[in-house]
Amino acid sequence: MRKSYLHAPGRAASAPVYLSSVQAYRKSLLAAHKNLNYWRKVAAPYDLKPSMARMIAYGYDPGKKIRAKLHLQAKQVVLACSKCGEAHVTKRCTKVARRSRDLYAMPVKSLRWAINNREEM
Ligand SMILES: [Zn+2]
Repeated sequence: MRKSYLHAPGRAASAPVYLSSVQAYRKSLLAAHKNLNYWRKVAAPYDLKPSMARMIAYGYDPGKKIRAKLHLQAKQVVLACSKCGEAHVTKRCTKVARRSRDLYAMPVKSLRWAINNREEM
């Protein structure tokens, strides 16, 4: 009789190790498959289908539901920076060097405008 290692009653699948990026999962799933030899066994701790584990290991970018199962952050649409055209996590542009400006020499009106409009100083 064939033993089921994964969903045998009273025996939990090995505790899943959650990683922080899809790239990290790729490496980890490939390494796990090298050891376990079955995608079914690789996928079980994460409650994934074996084919999905294999697809992720070979470069598939998982969608919302699978990302949630893997405890990955949901993808967000980020607008490109108006100054350099790249996407930043920060509010200010990290590509263009900051201009230093003498705040005391600025007219009050334009200083107020810069502060209110969060212009970089
Ligand atoms: Zn920028």
